[in-house]
Amino acid sequence: MTINDSLGHHLGDELLTQVGAILRHEIRAEDIAARFGGDEFVIVLGDLGRDRNDASTHAELIAEKLQLACGEPLMLDGQPLQITISIGITLFPDDGSSVEELIKRADIAMYKAKEAGRNRVCFFSPELQEIAETRLTIQRELRSALEQDQFRLHVQPKVDQNGHWIGGEVLMRWQHPQRGLLLPSSFIPAAEGSGLIDDIDQWVISHTIERLAKAQEKLSQPFFNLSVNITADLLLNPHLHDDFRHWCMEHAISPEQIELEITERVLLDDHAQAADIIEDMPRLGVRFSIDDFGTGYSSLRYLQRLPLNTLKIDKSFIDRLPAHAGDARIVTTIIDMSRHLAMDVVAEGVETEQQAAFLKEQGCKQFQGYLYARPMPWDEFFSTLQEHRAQPLS
Ligand code: C2E
Ligand code: CA
Ligand code: CA
Repeated sequence: MTINDSLGHHLGDELLTQVGAILRHEIRAEDIAARFGGDEFVIVLGDLGRDRNDASTHAELIAEKLQLACGEPLMLDGQPLQITISIGITLFPDDGSSVEELIKRADIAMYKAKEAGRNRVCFFSPELQEIAETRLTIQRELRSALEQDQFRLHVQPKVDQNGHWIGGEVLMRWQHPQRGLLLPSSFIPAAEGSGLIDDIDQWVISHTIERLAKAQEKLSQPFFNLSVNITADLLLNPHLHDDFRHWCMEHAISPEQIELEITERVLLDDHAQAADIIEDMPRLGVRFSIDDFGTGYSSLRYLQRLPLNTLKIDKSFIDRLPAHAGDARIVTTIIDMSRHLAMDVVAEGVETEQQAAFLKEQGCKQFQGYLYARPMPWDEFFSTLQEHRAQPLS
């Protein structure tokens, strides 16, 4: 799809024809190569050896040969083009009897190969099948979860140096009808692989704005800000800008009250497009923060160029403070850097007084972690908020 978008359909077709010719050339006359749809091909190799071992060794060798052949730059419209291929292998007759079953298994193995990074070869196994099936079940259930209103918003307070609540991070939960309250780690990965994450994140933001408007009516002082996690899918959604403005206007929420948390990966994978969006959105007033900072590959150029407001230091750097000299240096550096870049910095996952004391000494002013409060249901957060805020001077 990316090829069609960037080079046009005509060259996309030409590319498929060239790849088809390479595959055909690399296999024997009695083998079958066919395009299966989109950019997927199926190859059937008969008679690969006496036993399963023999057959799998041969199949793997042929897969490597195909990768090597496709690894040479192709000439497209006079320009060299480098492609990568991901290969999934299943053996027959052992792995299944029907053609549909074999194709399904090869497909599962191919997705695994893609996931492992491009240009990989992966064999089907029953464990892979189990993972793929669990994922499909979660995806099916997630669809009805949206329709049946099974998602819940929890909020974890962000605190200042005195432990007063100054904001919160919205964290979603899934009230599963059989399995109880589920944490995001058990369903976000499946949602990400299916395009559903976009709908889920939209649900989270729109509900956050709507409920914030209601909660605010009951507060004696106006409320600061709430941050919401979003994945690349939603950030790159062309409707986000208009939808966000619409939600804020509909509920009379000022966009500065919402901070969107993205991870460094977003800037790595789709950097140019993501950067354009991040440059544009703050005109609306919305704030951006980089989540899990330090675990990815942030480009200093982006930190300098993009209108980012906050860095959130990942919990893995906080855990071993203050004793671990390496982590202590990294944390100190991030705090200093954010000061130079005029960005806010939040330490995440603070669990002990010692960690908090070290962070304060280094100049960190915002904290989040079990030491202060765990994430709690939305209503509980807003009903206890007043007693945890700094009291206005009378
Ligand atoms: P995150 O954005 O890094 O969120 C912080 C996670 O650390 C939360 O886990 C929080 O409960 C946990 N945490 C906070 N303080 C402490 C601490 O002191 N100790 C320990 N051990 N853990 C702490 P949670 O709620 O399970 O969320 C996990 C991840 O799921 C989040 O990581 C975020 O990436 C993702 N997520 C949560 N809600 C959403 C959402 O609405 N949309 C999207 N796309 N992702 C979400
Ligand atoms: Ca976050
Ligand atoms: Ca984080």
